[in-house]
Amino acid sequence: MVRLTLSRMVMVMVVVVESLYLMVVLQKMAELEMSCGDPDHDQDEDEDDDENDLVDKEEMKKELLLINGVLFPDAAATAWCGIAWPPLYVITPTYKRNTQLADLTRLAQTLMHVPALHWIVVEDAEHPREVVGELLVRSGLPFTHLSATTPPEYKDAKMMGRGVFNRREGLRWVREHATEGVLYFADDDNTYDIRIFEQMRGTRRASVFPVGMILSLGISSPVVRDGKVVAFHDGFQAGRKFAVDMAGFAVNLRVVHASPGATIPIRVSYLEDGFLRQLRLELEDLEPLAWGCTQVLVWHTRTNRPATPNMDHVTKDHLDTNLVHLYRNILR
Ligand code: UDP
Ligand code: MN
Repeated sequence: MVRLTLSRMVMVMVVVVESLYLMVVLQKMAELEMSCGDPDHDQDEDEDDDENDLVDKEEMKKELLLINGVLFPDAAATAWCGIAWPPLYVITPTYKRNTQLADLTRLAQTLMHVPALHWIVVEDAEHPREVVGELLVRSGLPFTHLSATTPPEYKDAKMMGRGVFNRREGLRWVREHATEGVLYFADDDNTYDIRIFEQMRGTRRASVFPVGMILSLGISSPVVRDGKVVAFHDGFQAGRKFAVDMAGFAVNLRVVHASPGATIPIRVSYLEDGFLRQLRLELEDLEPLAWGCTQVLVWHTRTNRPATPNMDHVTKDHLDTNLVHLYRNILR
């Protein structure tokens, strides 16, 4: 009897707490709806309120989209306001090296700040590895984890670019699964200012921007005159129509779908140029970002090669300690 009353009381408390929570949520919804404007109201009202709407939208931007001083759409805010933001599809080729997990952790934790982004991580390996998969799950990002290897006929090919076949695999996946949005290739070891992702989201055909810390000039950049790309300032020209780094451009998926055969060529140093040519792009299609290519928002960083950890370095008197587990974990 006592037990029955007690469980009833608990149930009543749960209902009360749930109702309170619902009230708070409903109030928040009402507030958000007011700040977003009512999408259902009629056309005439729309016209009357045009001026107010403008003010409201500006206010809304400040309130909802200014996060850490960076203007970008908060996923919840955009859902409420019904604004459709083009998704970003970011392809990262990666392979097992001593720096891989450090690089991928840094990149994951950069991308975690970017809404409406799908991360396609393609390992240069026979199978997607568990340790990479776990990192992807931990990131909480929407992701696709794939792998691809170099076909045997290319195994001994000289002058072959790095990460060609896994980038191709990522491209295949995007072609098959995504219709609209923007595509970007993000190597695992570069450094990305999150503002570049919001800027590239608006790419109509292809956008380009400077890449820092690269090649002999220490910088690679489109040359912009009167808002138009007229040439490329890059340490490696060598007949390239688009002398850009993989980190220095993004393309709209419409352009990718318009050229179904366009792929990443295998010849080293011509990956970017070949791909952009095959997409049938011209210089005048290029949209310079990073404030007319006056700022660096992406760096071609390279992680210093550390020594390869080796279990043999654990001395006999430490075989019953954490070191054994530590080495096992890092050598997975
Ligand atoms: N990469 C790969 N397989 C390889 C070599 C490189 O998938 O055999 C990837 C690598 O993880 C990186 C990109 O291709 O995301 C470029 O490689 P790397 O950073 O080594 O080249 P660098 O930036 O030094 O030119
Ligand atoms: Mn690199």
